Amino acid sequence: MALPVAEWQGRTARLWAALQPALRERLAAASLQDAVRLGCDVLRSEEEAALVQLCHRAPTDKKPEAASWYREQGNREFKRGRYQAALRLYSKVCLEDIARAESHGYPDRLLPKLLLRKAECLLCLGRLQDAQDILRGLESKIALDGVMTTHLARLQKLSQLKVKLGEKERCPEPAQGEHGGTQGEPEIWEENNRISGASSSLSLSFDAERGRHLVASQDIVAGQSLVKEEAFVSVLCPGESLPLQDGDTAWDTRATNADLYCHRCLRQLLASVPCQGCSYAKYCSQVCADRAWQQYHRAECSLGALLLTLGVFCHVALRTVLLPGFAEVSRLVEGSHHGDKSFQNPEGSCKPLSEAADAGAGSRGVPGCDSSGRYRSSYQALFHLLPHTEQHSPEHKFLCTLSVVALCKQLQAAGLEAAVLSQESPQQWSKPKTCEKTSDELSPELKTVAEAMLRHVLQLQCNAQAITVMQELGPGDGAVVDKKPVRLATAFFPVLSLLNHSCCPNTSVSFSGTAATVRAAQPISSGQEVLHCYGPHWCRMRVAERQQLLSQYFFKCRCPACLQELEPGVKSVVSIRNSFCCPKCQAQMQGEEDTLCCSNEACATSASRDHLSGRLQDLQQQIKKALDLLRVGKADQAIKMLLKCQMDAGTFLSPEHLLMGEMEDHLAQVYATLGKWQEAARHLKKSIEIVEMHHGPSSVETGHELFKLAQILFNGFAVSEALSTIQRAEGILSVHFGPQSAQIQELQEMKACLSELPRNILQRT
Ligand SMILES: [Zn+2]
Ligand SMILES: [Zn+2]
Ligand SMILES: [Zn+2]
Ligand SMILES: [Zn+2]
Repeated sequence: MALPVAEWQGRTARLWAALQPALRERLAAASLQDAVRLGCDVLRSEEEAALVQLCHRAPTDKKPEAASWYREQGNREFKRGRYQAALRLYSKVCLEDIARAESHGYPDRLLPKLLLRKAECLLCLGRLQDAQDILRGLESKIALDGVMTTHLARLQKLSQLKVKLGEKERCPEPAQGEHGGTQGEPEIWEENNRISGASSSLSLSFDAERGRHLVASQDIVAGQSLVKEEAFVSVLCPGESLPLQDGDTAWDTRATNADLYCHRCLRQLLASVPCQGCSYAKYCSQVCADRAWQQYHRAECSLGALLLTLGVFCHVALRTVLLPGFAEVSRLVEGSHHGDKSFQNPEGSCKPLSEAADAGAGSRGVPGCDSSGRYRSSYQALFHLLPHTEQHSPEHKFLCTLSVVALCKQLQAAGLEAAVLSQESPQQWSKPKTCEKTSDELSPELKTVAEAMLRHVLQLQCNAQAITVMQELGPGDGAVVDKKPVRLATAFFPVLSLLNHSCCPNTSVSFSGTAATVRAAQPISSGQEVLHCYGPHWCRMRVAERQQLLSQYFFKCRCPACLQELEPGVKSVVSIRNSFCCPKCQAQMQGEEDTLCCSNEACATSASRDHLSGRLQDLQQQIKKALDLLRVGKADQAIKMLLKCQMDAGTFLSPEHLLMGEMEDHLAQVYATLGKWQEAARHLKKSIEIVEMHHGPSSVETGHELFKLAQILFNGFAVSEALSTIQRAEGILSVHFGPQSAQIQELQEMKACLSELPRNILQRT
């Protein structure tokens, strides 16, 4: 997804192999400028034609039937019993469809939720009287059915909607955004005067080994915000529409990201404003649509299919040069050709994510800083991130070069050169000028653009930051909301890029729209380096896997976890916990070879590693099947199957194995869908024990599990236990996501609801 589609990669690889050895050598050693020049010569019309052919697979031109898409999908999901997915899709269309769902005989126990959704839609549309009618009807229905058949979460939602309704009735003008609430205390935040977006508790340091990095200049408490940065550029990842091969999560019934999030600000779409020119881009509002058009989409709109084919990195690279405008791009590209040796010769090439800089120079004259020595999130700072030109494999550089050159040629052929070079007035950008240039040669300006883009594509390998969101998974009725982080976009964050990697980081990153916040995940004392994890975390991966993954950043991690695990005879935490156990006596199985032996000498059972791995795979298949059953509403069968899996797993997996925890978690989910809250809580607590063991008691992972437990206890009216669990979850999650985050708000609402619970409801339970 980051890189071009496989067929294009294959084509450029074949072309590379067929080149004269002398030309290959020249390309391998070429500067970015020369690479673009050579790339223009090498790219033949055959390849260009093949690329155009590949683009037909990802059509993005306007289709009239797009409007009915959600409705059809919604109906399909509805028939398959995936009510939550259906609801989500229905909610994107209009109330008419909810009315249809109602008349279809929507299951009774789910009706309150649907009605609430309908009331919410009506409220949004300003149809207050209709919303009121529905809420009244719902209240009397709840009173009739008695409280046990309904979820407390819905009562809570109902009262929220009533409050909103009241507000709207009092002041009919649309409120200026719902996020201006006063909940949560404002965080203490003092900005650094040398680095924009960074806290004043940090300072920018440099040494030969670590390059540029951020250090605590005073003691920092857990949860304190350290960096708050808006992405310089971000591009929504289209996401998978087909089930993922490995992590096919049972409850993920969403359409792709491209349908569900604003292509500019990444906010979740409720009713989308589609681009007038293509079927791909969708926005949350006309404002976003207009801004996107002005800033970059006028150049991208007709090239949607090409950008999808060439992958997200090329797309980010293009948008990166469109945002600052050609004058700034050309100034920096020119500058890189003369004088400034740090451009061609990144002596800090072995440093992670750092820019080359002279140790003694201070920040004045340091690449990326402005004339006053201040480091800002700017195109200049981004431009100076290391491209590692010499360290990429020649084949990879060739692929990137050809992709970028092909993209620029298409821009020229489509008459978009003026839009890219920002030479005309905005009114003229909308209609592509009919360009009669027949020559294949790229204009000098577009060559400059291509050179900058090639730099950015190469930089992305080390500096791409994934923007993730917590996406909702759910078995159906949403009584317990399960969320997992999903990659939503790829972005450049020049300030965030100053942080070095550690497999055991002391910070945690979260996102809101296109803004990133880095928080201290633990106390950091003055003088300590502030570190963030690029992905391979010591709790999730063996050291060998981590080092392999980190090789793309051209450095060898020397964090405490890696140093320790690289010692001879030391095993990764992950392998110790996720080990096999003896089928006879349940002691741990040992050995690095193909045959594993029981660690209990008296037992001396041995087993082949392949055999045990095979059993593990079978087990995972079975679990998947159980979740499929749950998805189609066969909860009882799902439970039977999961319990059987558990029995089976107990005979060959260590009790601490993560899969053991996952099965407990799944069981909890199934019981929750049945409203069996006590059972659900019992299984979830076991899952939490295992998660805590693997990730630590104050980890995000434990926080999410506690959040789920809080919802289960809340729904099961286990008031005091719910309150204490909410408190624990709040403590952990506010460190990682801040007191203003959605999760914390939800927890606080639950707490408020529990404390205001009418006496009569409590008595009836
Ligand atoms: Zn938007
Ligand atoms: Zn468009
Ligand atoms: Zn490490
Ligand atoms: Zn044994």
